[in-house]
Amino acid sequence: MNEPKSSCVQRLAVLGATGSIGDSTLQLVRLHRERYRVVALSGFHQVDKLLSLCQEFLPDFVCVSDEKVAECRQKIDELGLGIQVLSGDDGLAKMATLPTVDTVVAAIVGAAGLSSTLAAAHAGKRILLANKESLVMAGHLVMAAAKASGASILPIDSEHNAIFQCLPKPVQTDNQAIHDSSHGIKQLWLTASGGGFLHKSIEQMRSASPADAIKHPNWSMGKKISIDSATMMNKGLELIEACHLFDLPEEHIGIVIHPDSVVHSLVEYVDGSLLAQLGSPDMKTPIAHALAYPERISTGERSLDLYALSNLSFLEPDLEKFPALTLARVAAQRGTGACITLNAANEVAVSAFLAEQIRLTDIAAVVQYCLEHPSLIAHFDDDFAQLSDILAMDQKVRSVAMSWVDEGLA
Ligand code: NDP
Ligand code: MG
Repeated sequence: MNEPKSSCVQRLAVLGATGSIGDSTLQLVRLHRERYRVVALSGFHQVDKLLSLCQEFLPDFVCVSDEKVAECRQKIDELGLGIQVLSGDDGLAKMATLPTVDTVVAAIVGAAGLSSTLAAAHAGKRILLANKESLVMAGHLVMAAAKASGASILPIDSEHNAIFQCLPKPVQTDNQAIHDSSHGIKQLWLTASGGGFLHKSIEQMRSASPADAIKHPNWSMGKKISIDSATMMNKGLELIEACHLFDLPEEHIGIVIHPDSVVHSLVEYVDGSLLAQLGSPDMKTPIAHALAYPERISTGERSLDLYALSNLSFLEPDLEKFPALTLARVAAQRGTGACITLNAANEVAVSAFLAEQIRLTDIAAVVQYCLEHPSLIAHFDDDFAQLSDILAMDQKVRSVAMSWVDEGLA
């Protein structure tokens, strides 16, 4: 079948272009060059990878870390590419708000993605959101900014993209309408692969090395999200992401383990119907959906072989083995300050685990310690009305979490 012809070329800023989501996005651009033009690309440390993308896509702007900016400028000059080189948060915010950009792919990892996502939301862009941490920390600000400016947020996290695809059309185009009883939405279900430790003991988790923990049975992803999947904090972060994206409290969002990673999530309706989106575990599918929405484009991959699927299974999560799930529900109930705490403590703990300073099972312990720390709890009811309030809380949490790591409070 022929694909629909797009009416105009979409101009993209790909933030986090040197990462795993950036790779998948640019693979799709290569397949559909007539539909997309790359205006801006960001990396952070991987200057050479970014330069080779520059030679291929000839963007107008690139952005790297402050430490890499001189090296990047020099190499861009040597290649005679005439690309403007920006750096840091200001550079990312500039790229996210360029008048020549229609669509911002928010694919930076961690809290570092927040300010550019928020800038894109204020600027009314079409945002393809992978950076779940920005909603965990500041969902209220990002969603309000998008509503005020007319920005659209299309999730590319596979579960949220699946839910989006299973929602009625009026809800897809107006987040508020989800509560309208005529839609009959009972609850959302996030599926989780269960990660590499699903069938392993807590003892095996405790002694896992970073190399063991990074291996994911179904998905190939960046380091941080791979560790988040091993602890299931990824699902906890996704729960909070879903609360903001779909404007629902956490108790209306179930989590079900589905080790096959074929059903990417479900929407349950009051008449007993469960609508699900299925596909291979390949991020190109949700990215292609969001890039082309409301049209569809090919990912260039083979169809999912239904005849090869047997015994798809669904299990209840083991909350003792994966305490991150409970911690995330508690944070979602407690509000923004607790969610910032959950996210920042987790980022510090994941880095410490990757640096072999703490064990995999300590990650949840660091997060719990921070969520119960009086100096942080004292701020849980602050209003976090500004980005600066959120970043200040993020910094407070990081120093408490670092104290756990430095003092080995295990
Ligand atoms: P990667 O680690 O593969 O890539 C991260 C990207 O962010 C790289 O381009 C990196 O640059 C850049 N980056 C890192 N630190 C900073 C910083 N401080 N400031 C600016 N840029 C920075 O991550 P993923 O692609 O796996 O994940 C990206 C986001 O997408 C995460 O929020 C993740 O949760 C989400 N996501 C990812 C999925 C996946 O399959 N990978 C699935 C669903 C969601 P450089 O490499 O040049 O240093
Ligand atoms: Mg996901």
